[in-house]
Amino acid sequence: MKTITEIKEIKAEIKALKSKGRVIGFVPTMGYLHEGHLSLVRESVKTTDCTVVSIFINPTQFGPKEDFKEYPRDLKRDSEILEEEGVDYLFVPETNQMYPKNYKTYVSVHDLEDKLCGCSRPEHFRGVCTIVLKLFNIVNPDISFFGQKDAQQAIILKRMVRDLDLDVKIQVLPIVREKDGLAISSRNFYLSPEQRQAALILSKSLRDAQKMIDNGERESERIVKRMRDMINSEHHVKIDYIEIVGPESLEPLSRIENGAFIALAVFIDNVRFIDNIFVQIKE
Ligand code: AMP
Repeated sequence: MKTITEIKEIKAEIKALKSKGRVIGFVPTMGYLHEGHLSLVRESVKTTDCTVVSIFINPTQFGPKEDFKEYPRDLKRDSEILEEEGVDYLFVPETNQMYPKNYKTYVSVHDLEDKLCGCSRPEHFRGVCTIVLKLFNIVNPDISFFGQKDAQQAIILKRMVRDLDLDVKIQVLPIVREKDGLAISSRNFYLSPEQRQAALILSKSLRDAQKMIDNGERESERIVKRMRDMINSEHHVKIDYIEIVGPESLEPLSRIENGAFIALAVFIDNVRFIDNIFVQIKE
Protein backbone atom coordinates (compact mmCIF):
# COMPACT_ATOMS: atom_id res chain seq x y z
CA MET A 1 0.00 0.00 0.00
CA LYS A 2 1.23 3.44 -0.87
CA THR A 3 0.46 6.30 1.52
CA ILE A 4 0.09 9.68 -0.18
CA THR A 5 -0.41 13.10 1.37
CA GLU A 6 -0.10 15.30 -1.74
CA ILE A 7 -3.06 15.99 -4.03
CA LYS A 8 -0.81 16.28 -7.09
CA GLU A 9 0.80 12.92 -6.41
CA ILE A 10 -2.40 10.92 -6.01
CA LYS A 11 -3.89 12.58 -9.12
CA ALA A 12 -0.86 11.48 -11.16
CA GLU A 13 -1.02 7.89 -9.84
CA ILE A 14 -4.73 7.60 -10.63
CA LYS A 15 -4.31 9.13 -14.07
CA ALA A 16 -1.71 6.48 -14.93
CA LEU A 17 -3.97 3.67 -13.67
CA LYS A 18 -7.00 5.00 -15.54
CA SER A 19 -5.07 5.24 -18.77
CA LYS A 20 -4.56 1.46 -18.42
CA GLY A 21 -8.32 1.02 -18.00
CA ARG A 22 -8.22 0.16 -14.28
CA VAL A 23 -11.48 0.50 -12.32
CA ILE A 24 -10.91 2.68 -9.25
CA GLY A 25 -12.83 2.04 -6.02
CA PHE A 26 -12.85 4.71 -3.34
CA VAL A 27 -13.76 4.66 0.36
CA PRO A 28 -13.72 8.09 2.06
CA THR A 29 -13.43 7.92 5.87
CA MET A 30 -12.47 9.97 8.89
CA GLY A 31 -10.33 7.11 10.21
CA TYR A 32 -10.30 5.25 13.52
CA LEU A 33 -11.37 2.32 11.42
CA HIS A 34 -13.77 -0.39 12.52
CA GLU A 35 -15.73 -3.25 10.95
CA GLY A 36 -18.24 -0.79 9.44
CA HIS A 37 -15.51 0.93 7.42
CA LEU A 38 -13.90 -2.40 6.61
CA SER A 39 -17.10 -3.77 5.05
CA LEU A 40 -16.79 -0.95 2.49
CA VAL A 41 -13.07 -1.50 2.00
CA ARG A 42 -13.54 -5.25 1.46
CA GLU A 43 -16.28 -4.69 -1.11
CA SER A 44 -14.05 -2.27 -2.99
CA VAL A 45 -11.04 -4.62 -2.90
CA LYS A 46 -13.27 -7.46 -4.10
CA THR A 47 -15.04 -5.63 -6.93
CA THR A 48 -12.57 -3.07 -8.32
CA ASP A 49 -8.99 -3.12 -9.69
CA CYS A 50 -7.56 -0.53 -7.33
CA THR A 51 -8.83 0.64 -3.95
CA VAL A 52 -8.14 4.09 -2.57
CA VAL A 53 -9.07 4.87 1.05
CA SER A 54 -8.91 8.42 2.34
CA ILE A 55 -8.60 9.44 5.96
CA PHE A 56 -9.45 13.06 6.56
CA ILE A 57 -11.26 14.52 9.56
CA ASN A 58 -13.11 17.22 7.73
CA PRO A 59 -13.43 20.37 9.85
CA THR A 60 -16.24 21.90 7.74
CA GLN A 61 -18.69 19.15 8.64
CA PHE A 62 -18.37 19.71 12.39
CA GLY A 63 -20.39 22.41 14.15
CA PRO A 64 -18.59 24.87 16.47
CA LYS A 65 -19.70 22.93 19.56
CA GLU A 66 -19.04 19.47 18.12
CA ASP A 67 -16.23 16.99 18.71
CA PHE A 68 -13.79 17.89 15.89
CA LYS A 69 -10.86 18.32 18.28
CA GLU A 70 -11.66 15.20 20.31
CA TYR A 71 -12.53 12.98 17.32
CA PRO A 72 -10.50 9.76 17.81
CA ARG A 73 -7.38 9.41 15.67
CA ASP A 74 -4.87 6.54 15.21
CA LEU A 75 -3.22 6.71 11.79
CA LYS A 76 -0.61 4.06 12.54
CA ARG A 77 -3.21 1.45 13.47
CA ASP A 78 -5.50 2.42 10.57
CA SER A 79 -2.65 2.18 8.10
CA GLU A 80 -1.68 -1.32 9.32
CA ILE A 81 -5.29 -2.50 9.02
CA LEU A 82 -5.65 -1.14 5.48
CA GLU A 83 -2.38 -2.70 4.38
CA GLU A 84 -3.64 -6.06 5.60
CA GLU A 85 -6.94 -5.62 3.75
CA GLY A 86 -5.12 -5.24 0.43
CA VAL A 87 -5.79 -1.53 -0.10
CA ASP A 88 -3.64 0.02 -2.85
CA TYR A 89 -3.55 3.69 -1.80
CA LEU A 90 -4.11 5.50 1.49
CA PHE A 91 -4.69 9.21 0.89
CA VAL A 92 -4.14 11.34 4.00
CA PRO A 93 -4.15 15.02 3.06
CA GLU A 94 -3.34 17.83 5.48
CA THR A 95 -6.16 20.27 6.25
CA ASN A 96 -4.35 23.16 4.57
CA GLN A 97 -4.12 21.13 1.34
CA MET A 98 -7.85 20.52 1.24
CA TYR A 99 -8.75 24.00 2.48
CA PRO A 100 -6.01 26.41 1.42
CA LYS A 101 -6.01 29.97 2.73
CA ASN A 102 -9.04 31.96 1.50
CA TYR A 103 -10.98 28.84 0.61
CA LYS A 104 -14.46 30.02 -0.49
CA THR A 105 -16.28 27.29 -2.43
CA TYR A 106 -18.99 25.08 -0.91
CA VAL A 107 -21.54 22.64 -2.30
CA SER A 108 -25.09 22.55 -0.98
CA VAL A 109 -27.88 20.14 -1.83
CA HIS A 110 -30.87 22.32 -1.02
CA ASP A 111 -33.86 20.99 0.94
CA LEU A 112 -32.31 17.60 1.65
CA GLU A 113 -29.50 19.07 3.75
CA ASP A 114 -31.87 20.90 6.13
CA LYS A 115 -33.87 17.83 7.10
CA LEU A 116 -33.35 15.14 9.79
CA CYS A 117 -29.73 15.50 11.01
CA GLY A 118 -29.52 18.83 9.17
CA CYS A 119 -31.89 20.45 11.71
CA SER A 120 -29.46 20.16 14.59
CA ARG A 121 -26.31 20.15 12.40
CA PRO A 122 -27.07 23.05 10.02
CA GLU A 123 -23.71 23.15 8.18
CA HIS A 124 -22.94 19.45 8.35
CA PHE A 125 -24.07 18.24 4.92
CA ARG A 126 -22.64 21.28 3.16
CA GLY A 127 -19.28 20.28 4.65
CA VAL A 128 -19.78 16.64 3.66
CA CYS A 129 -20.77 17.45 0.06
CA THR A 130 -17.89 19.89 -0.32
CA ILE A 131 -15.24 17.46 0.89
CA VAL A 132 -16.67 14.48 -0.99
CA LEU A 133 -16.85 16.44 -4.25
CA LYS A 134 -13.25 17.59 -3.74
CA LEU A 135 -12.16 14.01 -3.03
CA PHE A 136 -14.04 12.76 -6.11
CA ASN A 137 -12.22 15.36 -8.21
CA ILE A 138 -8.88 14.29 -6.76
CA VAL A 139 -9.34 10.50 -6.76
CA ASN A 140 -11.58 10.30 -9.84
CA PRO A 141 -13.14 6.99 -8.74
CA ASP A 142 -15.46 4.82 -10.82
CA ILE A 143 -17.27 3.56 -7.72
CA SER A 144 -17.37 5.09 -4.26
CA PHE A 145 -18.57 3.08 -1.26
CA PHE A 146 -20.66 4.51 1.59
CA GLY A 147 -22.46 3.00 4.58
CA GLN A 148 -26.18 3.02 5.25
CA LYS A 149 -25.12 3.97 8.78
CA ASP A 150 -25.09 7.54 7.43
CA ALA A 151 -28.09 7.04 5.16
CA GLN A 152 -29.01 10.72 4.83
CA GLN A 153 -25.45 11.42 3.75
CA ALA A 154 -25.66 8.71 1.07
CA ILE A 155 -29.05 10.02 -0.15
CA ILE A 156 -27.68 13.56 -0.41
CA LEU A 157 -24.47 12.46 -2.13
CA LYS A 158 -26.45 10.44 -4.69
CA ARG A 159 -28.44 13.58 -5.45
CA MET A 160 -25.27 15.64 -5.78
CA VAL A 161 -23.81 13.07 -8.20
CA ARG A 162 -26.99 13.12 -10.29
CA ASP A 163 -27.44 16.88 -10.24
CA LEU A 164 -23.81 17.65 -11.10
CA ASP A 165 -23.46 14.84 -13.70
CA LEU A 166 -20.51 13.27 -11.91
CA ASP A 167 -19.11 10.09 -13.44
CA VAL A 168 -19.06 8.06 -10.26
CA LYS A 169 -21.35 5.35 -8.98
CA ILE A 170 -22.35 5.55 -5.33
CA GLN A 171 -22.70 2.13 -3.75
CA VAL A 172 -24.35 1.95 -0.33
CA LEU A 173 -23.70 -1.03 1.92
CA PRO A 174 -25.70 -2.22 4.96
CA ILE A 175 -25.07 -1.09 8.54
CA VAL A 176 -22.58 -3.31 10.36
CA ARG A 177 -23.76 -3.90 13.92
CA GLU A 178 -22.34 -5.39 17.10
CA LYS A 179 -23.89 -8.74 18.10
CA ASP A 180 -26.30 -6.94 20.43
CA GLY A 181 -27.56 -4.65 17.65
CA LEU A 182 -25.57 -1.46 18.33
CA ALA A 183 -24.49 0.11 15.02
CA ILE A 184 -20.68 0.27 15.01
CA SER A 185 -19.34 3.82 15.11
CA SER A 186 -16.03 5.50 15.91
CA ARG A 187 -17.98 7.45 18.54
CA ASN A 188 -18.89 4.21 20.40
CA PHE A 189 -15.42 4.43 21.92
CA TYR A 190 -16.63 7.45 23.90
CA LEU A 191 -19.27 5.39 25.73
CA SER A 192 -18.95 4.16 29.32
CA PRO A 193 -20.34 0.64 29.89
CA GLU A 194 -23.52 2.17 31.31
CA GLN A 195 -23.95 4.54 28.35
CA ARG A 196 -23.25 1.73 25.92
CA GLN A 197 -26.04 -0.30 27.50
CA ALA A 198 -28.37 2.69 27.13
CA ALA A 199 -27.37 3.07 23.46
CA LEU A 200 -28.94 -0.29 22.65
CA ILE A 201 -32.32 1.45 22.75
CA LEU A 202 -31.65 2.93 19.29
CA SER A 203 -31.55 -0.37 17.41
CA LYS A 204 -34.12 -1.91 19.75
CA SER A 205 -36.68 0.82 18.99
CA LEU A 206 -36.06 0.40 15.24
CA ARG A 207 -36.52 -3.36 15.45
CA ASP A 208 -39.71 -2.74 17.39
CA ALA A 209 -40.95 -0.34 14.69
CA GLN A 210 -40.32 -2.97 12.00
CA LYS A 211 -42.21 -5.51 14.15
CA MET A 212 -45.21 -3.17 14.44
CA ILE A 213 -45.17 -2.83 10.66
CA ASP A 214 -44.91 -6.62 10.26
CA ASN A 215 -48.03 -6.84 12.42
CA GLY A 216 -49.90 -4.50 10.08
CA GLU A 217 -49.39 -1.03 11.60
CA ARG A 218 -49.27 1.66 8.90
CA GLU A 219 -49.74 4.91 10.86
CA SER A 220 -46.36 6.63 11.19
CA GLU A 221 -47.55 8.65 14.17
CA ARG A 222 -48.30 5.55 16.24
CA ILE A 223 -44.93 4.01 15.40
CA VAL A 224 -43.03 7.20 16.27
CA LYS A 225 -44.96 7.54 19.54
CA ARG A 226 -44.06 4.00 20.57
CA MET A 227 -40.38 4.57 19.69
CA ARG A 228 -40.44 7.87 21.59
CA ASP A 229 -41.90 6.20 24.69
CA MET A 230 -39.34 3.39 24.55
CA ILE A 231 -36.39 5.75 24.20
CA ASN A 232 -37.65 8.22 26.80
CA SER A 233 -37.82 5.43 29.36
CA GLU A 234 -34.04 5.01 29.08
CA HIS A 235 -31.76 7.04 31.40
CA HIS A 236 -28.98 9.14 29.80
CA VAL A 237 -30.78 9.24 26.42
CA LYS A 238 -32.34 12.41 24.98
CA ILE A 239 -34.11 12.30 21.63
CA ASP A 240 -32.94 14.70 18.94
CA TYR A 241 -35.43 13.44 16.32
CA ILE A 242 -37.35 10.37 15.21
CA GLU A 243 -38.81 10.62 11.71
CA ILE A 244 -40.42 8.46 9.09
CA VAL A 245 -39.82 9.91 5.63
CA GLY A 246 -39.68 9.07 1.94
CA PRO A 247 -36.30 7.54 1.02
CA GLU A 248 -35.49 10.13 -1.66
CA SER A 249 -37.46 13.25 -0.76
CA LEU A 250 -36.90 12.93 3.02
CA GLU A 251 -40.43 14.40 3.35
CA PRO A 252 -42.54 13.03 6.23
CA LEU A 253 -44.79 10.07 5.42
CA SER A 254 -48.02 9.87 7.39
CA ARG A 255 -48.56 6.29 6.23
CA ILE A 256 -45.89 3.64 6.02
CA GLU A 257 -44.96 2.35 2.61
CA ASN A 258 -42.36 -0.11 1.41
CA GLY A 259 -38.89 1.45 1.52
CA ALA A 260 -39.91 4.16 4.01
CA PHE A 261 -36.89 5.53 5.84
CA ILE A 262 -37.07 5.54 9.65
CA ALA A 263 -34.24 7.63 11.07
CA LEU A 264 -33.40 8.76 14.55
CA ALA A 265 -30.75 10.66 16.43
CA VAL A 266 -30.27 10.81 20.18
CA PHE A 267 -27.86 12.33 22.63
CA ILE A 268 -26.39 9.94 25.17
CA ASP A 269 -25.26 12.44 27.75
CA ASN A 270 -23.41 14.78 25.36
CA VAL A 271 -22.57 12.51 22.46
CA ARG A 272 -24.88 12.27 19.47
CA PHE A 273 -25.73 8.88 17.92
CA ILE A 274 -27.76 7.97 14.84
CA ASP A 275 -29.39 4.84 13.49
CA ASN A 276 -31.95 3.96 10.83
CA ILE A 277 -33.79 1.31 8.87
CA PHE A 278 -35.52 1.18 5.51
CA VAL A 279 -38.90 -0.45 6.06
CA GLN A 280 -39.58 -3.77 4.41
CA ILE A 281 -43.21 -4.64 3.93
CA LYS A 282 -43.70 -8.37 3.64
CA GLU A 283 -46.91 -8.83 1.64
P1 AMP B 1 -16.80 8.01 8.84
O1 AMP B 1 -15.39 7.61 9.07
O2 AMP B 1 -17.64 7.99 10.09
O3 AMP B 1 -16.94 9.26 8.02
O4 AMP B 1 -17.43 6.86 7.93
C1 AMP B 1 -16.89 6.52 6.68
C2 AMP B 1 -17.84 5.61 5.96
O5 AMP B 1 -18.05 4.42 6.72
C3 AMP B 1 -19.24 6.25 5.75
O6 AMP B 1 -19.70 5.92 4.45
C4 AMP B 1 -20.06 5.56 6.81
O7 AMP B 1 -21.44 5.49 6.49
C5 AMP B 1 -19.44 4.18 6.84
N1 AMP B 1 -19.75 3.52 8.10
C6 AMP B 1 -19.51 3.99 9.36
N2 AMP B 1 -20.00 3.13 10.28
C7 AMP B 1 -20.57 2.11 9.58
C8 AMP B 1 -21.27 0.92 9.96
N3 AMP B 1 -21.47 0.59 11.23
N4 AMP B 1 -21.72 0.11 8.98
C9 AMP B 1 -21.53 0.44 7.67
N5 AMP B 1 -20.88 1.53 7.25
C10 AMP B 1 -20.41 2.36 8.20
